[in-house]
Amino acid sequence: MKERCPVCGAEGKLEFKPYNIPYFGDIMLFTLSCPSCGYHSSDVLLLSSGRNKKRHELLVSSVEDLSSTVVRSSYARIEIPELGVNVEPRRGESFITTVEGVLIRVERVVKMLWRNEEGEKRERAERLLQRIAEIKAGKASMRLIIEDPTGNSAIIPPQ
Ligand SMILES: [Zn+2]
Repeated sequence: MKERCPVCGAEGKLEFKPYNIPYFGDIMLFTLSCPSCGYHSSDVLLLSSGRNKKRHELLVSSVEDLSSTVVRSSYARIEIPELGVNVEPRRGESFITTVEGVLIRVERVVKMLWRNEEGEKRERAERLLQRIAEIKAGKASMRLIIEDPTGNSAIIPPQ
Protein backbone atom coordinates (compact mmCIF):
# COMPACT_ATOMS: atom_id res chain seq x y z
CA MET A 1 0.00 0.00 0.00
CA LYS A 2 1.06 3.57 -0.62
CA GLU A 3 0.97 6.32 1.93
CA ARG A 4 2.31 9.83 1.98
CA CYS A 5 5.48 10.35 4.00
CA PRO A 6 4.75 12.64 7.00
CA VAL A 7 8.23 14.16 6.71
CA CYS A 8 8.83 14.96 3.04
CA GLY A 9 5.44 14.28 1.44
CA ALA A 10 6.79 11.75 -1.07
CA GLU A 11 5.03 8.47 -1.65
CA GLY A 12 6.03 5.98 1.04
CA LYS A 13 5.39 2.28 1.32
CA LEU A 14 3.02 1.02 3.99
CA GLU A 15 3.30 -2.65 4.89
CA PHE A 16 1.30 -4.91 7.17
CA LYS A 17 2.95 -8.05 8.50
CA PRO A 18 1.21 -10.58 10.70
CA TYR A 19 3.40 -11.97 13.47
CA ASN A 20 2.61 -14.87 15.76
CA ILE A 21 3.88 -15.26 19.30
CA PRO A 22 3.47 -18.88 20.44
CA TYR A 23 1.02 -19.33 23.33
CA PHE A 24 0.05 -15.69 23.12
CA GLY A 25 -1.51 -14.83 19.81
CA ASP A 26 -1.31 -12.77 16.68
CA ILE A 27 0.12 -9.33 16.31
CA MET A 28 -0.07 -7.05 13.31
CA LEU A 29 3.05 -5.04 12.51
CA PHE A 30 2.73 -1.85 10.49
CA THR A 31 5.71 -0.22 8.89
CA LEU A 32 5.92 2.91 6.81
CA SER A 33 9.12 3.55 4.93
CA CYS A 34 9.97 6.41 2.62
CA PRO A 35 12.42 5.76 -0.22
CA SER A 36 12.85 9.47 -0.74
CA CYS A 37 14.07 10.71 2.69
CA GLY A 38 14.66 7.45 4.56
CA TYR A 39 11.88 8.04 7.11
CA HIS A 40 10.82 4.86 8.87
CA SER A 41 8.11 4.26 11.41
CA SER A 42 6.44 1.20 12.85
CA ASP A 43 3.62 0.24 15.13
CA VAL A 44 1.97 -2.87 16.50
CA LEU A 45 -1.57 -4.01 17.15
CA LEU A 46 -2.49 -7.00 19.33
CA LEU A 47 -5.15 -9.04 17.57
CA SER A 48 -6.06 -11.51 20.32
CA SER A 49 -8.97 -10.28 22.36
CA GLY A 50 -8.71 -10.46 26.12
CA ARG A 51 -5.00 -9.67 26.04
CA ASN A 52 -5.29 -5.92 26.03
CA LYS A 53 -4.01 -4.89 29.43
CA LYS A 54 -2.92 -1.31 29.94
CA ARG A 55 -0.22 -2.00 32.51
CA HIS A 56 2.37 -4.74 32.59
CA GLU A 57 4.99 -5.39 35.20
CA LEU A 58 7.64 -8.10 35.21
CA LEU A 59 10.16 -8.80 37.94
CA VAL A 60 13.35 -9.77 36.15
CA SER A 61 15.44 -11.80 38.57
CA SER A 62 16.86 -14.69 36.58
CA VAL A 63 18.50 -15.34 33.23
CA GLU A 64 15.30 -17.07 32.13
CA ASP A 65 13.27 -13.88 32.71
CA LEU A 66 15.51 -12.11 30.19
CA SER A 67 14.05 -14.14 27.36
CA SER A 68 10.49 -12.87 27.98
CA THR A 69 9.03 -11.27 24.88
CA VAL A 70 8.36 -7.55 25.02
CA VAL A 71 5.89 -5.98 22.61
CA ARG A 72 5.94 -2.22 22.72
CA SER A 73 3.52 -0.11 20.73
CA SER A 74 4.54 3.46 20.02
CA TYR A 75 2.01 4.64 22.65
CA ALA A 76 3.74 2.81 25.48
CA ARG A 77 5.84 4.22 28.25
CA ILE A 78 8.63 2.01 29.60
CA GLU A 79 10.02 2.28 33.09
CA ILE A 80 12.84 0.43 34.83
CA PRO A 81 12.90 2.03 38.30
CA GLU A 82 16.05 0.18 39.45
CA LEU A 83 18.02 1.69 36.58
CA GLY A 84 16.33 5.10 36.60
CA VAL A 85 15.18 4.47 33.04
CA ASN A 86 12.06 6.15 31.61
CA VAL A 87 11.24 5.87 27.94
CA GLU A 88 8.37 8.11 26.87
CA PRO A 89 6.06 7.08 24.01
CA ARG A 90 7.16 8.24 20.61
CA ARG A 91 5.03 7.99 17.53
CA GLY A 92 6.33 5.46 15.03
CA GLU A 93 8.70 3.81 17.49
CA SER A 94 7.48 0.36 18.34
CA PHE A 95 9.34 -2.90 18.70
CA ILE A 96 9.08 -6.58 19.46
CA THR A 97 12.10 -7.85 21.33
CA THR A 98 13.11 -9.64 24.53
CA VAL A 99 13.87 -8.17 27.97
CA GLU A 100 17.54 -8.67 27.10
CA GLY A 101 16.94 -6.74 23.88
CA VAL A 102 15.49 -3.85 25.92
CA LEU A 103 18.58 -3.89 28.17
CA ILE A 104 20.89 -3.86 25.14
CA ARG A 105 19.06 -0.76 23.87
CA VAL A 106 19.47 0.93 27.27
CA GLU A 107 23.18 0.05 27.30
CA ARG A 108 23.61 1.51 23.84
CA VAL A 109 21.93 4.78 24.85
CA VAL A 110 23.97 5.07 28.07
CA LYS A 111 27.20 4.48 26.14
CA MET A 112 26.25 6.99 23.47
CA LEU A 113 25.14 9.74 25.88
CA TRP A 114 28.05 9.47 28.28
CA ARG A 115 30.83 8.56 25.88
CA ASN A 116 32.38 12.01 26.21
CA GLU A 117 31.60 12.64 29.85
CA GLU A 118 34.11 12.62 32.66
CA GLY A 119 34.09 12.68 36.45
CA GLU A 120 30.91 11.99 38.37
CA LYS A 121 28.60 11.57 35.36
CA ARG A 122 30.99 9.05 33.87
CA GLU A 123 31.13 7.11 37.14
CA ARG A 124 27.36 7.05 37.32
CA ALA A 125 27.20 5.71 33.76
CA GLU A 126 29.76 3.03 34.58
CA ARG A 127 27.79 1.99 37.67
CA LEU A 128 24.65 1.76 35.56
CA LEU A 129 26.40 -0.41 32.95
CA GLN A 130 27.77 -2.59 35.75
CA ARG A 131 24.24 -3.01 37.16
CA ILE A 132 22.92 -3.96 33.71
CA ALA A 133 25.69 -6.55 33.36
CA GLU A 134 24.68 -8.04 36.74
CA ILE A 135 21.03 -8.21 35.70
CA LYS A 136 22.00 -9.88 32.42
CA ALA A 137 23.98 -12.45 34.41
CA GLY A 138 20.99 -13.11 36.72
CA LYS A 139 22.85 -11.64 39.74
CA ALA A 140 20.65 -8.59 40.27
CA SER A 141 16.98 -7.92 39.72
CA MET A 142 14.89 -5.16 38.22
CA ARG A 143 11.28 -4.44 37.36
CA LEU A 144 10.17 -3.78 33.82
CA ILE A 145 6.98 -1.72 33.71
CA ILE A 146 5.08 -0.93 30.54
CA GLU A 147 2.09 1.38 30.49
CA ASP A 148 0.14 1.63 27.28
CA PRO A 149 -3.26 3.40 27.23
CA THR A 150 -4.11 1.67 23.92
CA GLY A 151 -3.52 -1.83 25.37
CA ASN A 152 -1.34 -2.87 22.44
CA SER A 153 1.77 -3.69 24.43
CA ALA A 154 2.63 -6.87 26.32
CA ILE A 155 5.26 -8.70 28.33
CA ILE A 156 5.09 -12.44 27.65
CA PRO A 157 7.10 -14.82 29.89
CA PRO A 158 8.97 -17.67 28.18
CA GLN A 159 6.85 -20.82 27.79
ZN1 LIG B 1 10.03 11.03 3.16
